[in-house]
Amino acid sequence: MTLLEKINSVFIRFPHRNAFCIEDIYYTYEELAVKVASIKQLLGKYPDEVRIGIQVRNDIESYASLIAIMFLGKTYIPINPNHPIDRIESIIQQSGLNIVLAKPGNQAYPGVMFLDYTTIYEGISTTFEIPEFDQNNNAYILFTSGSTGLPKGVQISFHNLISLYNASVALGYKMDETDRFLQMADLTFDLSVFSYIVPLCIGACICTVSDVGIKFTNVYKVLETQNVTFAVMVPSVLNHLRQFLPEITLPHIRHSLFCGEALYKDITTEWLRCLPNGSVENVYGPTEATVFCLANDSITSTSNVVTNNEILAIGKPMQNMDAILVDENLNEVPDGEKGEICLSGDQLTRGYLDEERNKVAFFNYNNKRFYRTGDVAYKNENGVFLYAGRIDHQVKIQGYRIELNEIEFHLRRIIGGAGVVALVTKGANDLNQIEVVFEDKNTNIEHIFEELKTKIPHYMMPVAAHIISPLPLNANGKTDRKALEKILSVSI
Ligand code: AMP
Repeated sequence: MTLLEKINSVFIRFPHRNAFCIEDIYYTYEELAVKVASIKQLLGKYPDEVRIGIQVRNDIESYASLIAIMFLGKTYIPINPNHPIDRIESIIQQSGLNIVLAKPGNQAYPGVMFLDYTTIYEGISTTFEIPEFDQNNNAYILFTSGSTGLPKGVQISFHNLISLYNASVALGYKMDETDRFLQMADLTFDLSVFSYIVPLCIGACICTVSDVGIKFTNVYKVLETQNVTFAVMVPSVLNHLRQFLPEITLPHIRHSLFCGEALYKDITTEWLRCLPNGSVENVYGPTEATVFCLANDSITSTSNVVTNNEILAIGKPMQNMDAILVDENLNEVPDGEKGEICLSGDQLTRGYLDEERNKVAFFNYNNKRFYRTGDVAYKNENGVFLYAGRIDHQVKIQGYRIELNEIEFHLRRIIGGAGVVALVTKGANDLNQIEVVFEDKNTNIEHIFEELKTKIPHYMMPVAAHIISPLPLNANGKTDRKALEKILSVSI
């Protein structure tokens, strides 16, 4: 079955089951279908070539919009209205958007027509005809942080998506229409995709997390009050909840998947104590391979887990995926040695919108197309991959993927010089945070941060700035980032 056939069969089989719980309001599949049908009708008037964006929020219309676009066989492009306009304009320009679905009364974007996604056509038929189209067409394009200053558009096809679904089913997770899935991620972040696509394919309920207040505290509220049974989270949630874990019991949770960041053994042990009936699954993957594509076995205890530097193993490639470890010349390394993880298979993106980036990120090997992740790992004697860090300056802040080079790019432009370094340090609850170091003693930090806010999303903003003059250099004459990290960790 195709993805749309699966979702359509859920609309037919489970009209009265809850599809969503958003801000404590429930929406059945029947109610969702009316909204999807209305948005489909609204869009149906426009020519096939239109490129459609959605101003995504934590509301039913955002979800109905993306389903409606898929039911037209078209591609959706989520836009976070809270991101700086420069970034939004770059996304519009790179993806050729000409229509954006949004709430009425929004900030206008140049060259783009707004359509009101709250429009409802009374008495509209909710019997969907599934259009015939190539399953290799893009279902969505997500933009991730780009080291050259511009966000990178990752194209994910309908085939990639159904492959993720099928591979997840093949992992043997117990999932059916009685499940209640946590959906904690912003819709511009690929973790969200698993958390709504899988429930939509099986008729389960999607419990979203409010962005009003502290997000990770809201995650806990949803887990508890909505009796969530299946949760996909970034490990940072656990760091945030750590001091409360001894008091927490979540008997409804059966599966808790962690993705997006290294998962440490000690905190996993503490979390498992909260789950009398549940397990932990550490899964791994980049946006470019559709949410996650390596998975480790479910565990209910950490006593025999395989780790590297206390980080849980990321497991083995999922169904129809392949992972190899290569050296800097793209040759496979011998078993047991560290190499860069490269991915191939049914979940792999056709590439970025920008062809130039594809030349460096993808290569052919043994007649297969591989993607270079930038992640380092080694494989143990059982073929299990163990995560060992990154080869570049990509970091994760509360699950968000950030290129430190992108922050430096904007800062260099603002200061009109080169003397600036962005670094990741540990903040409260052991959570990653970004700090910047300037070399010029006369740097006006307040003014620079005001300017920076107009260029990058809030989660990329540094929490502190320092002036260190001159910047320390390593033996190659480059800025010594390690030395700076040491200085900052001492000064915290
Ligand atoms: P994103 O594209 O936002 O999903 O980020 C992908 C990156 O997150 C990967 O390249 C890894 O660096 C990191 N990542 C994802 N899952 C894991 C995991 N289970 N353990 C360690 N790092 C992970």
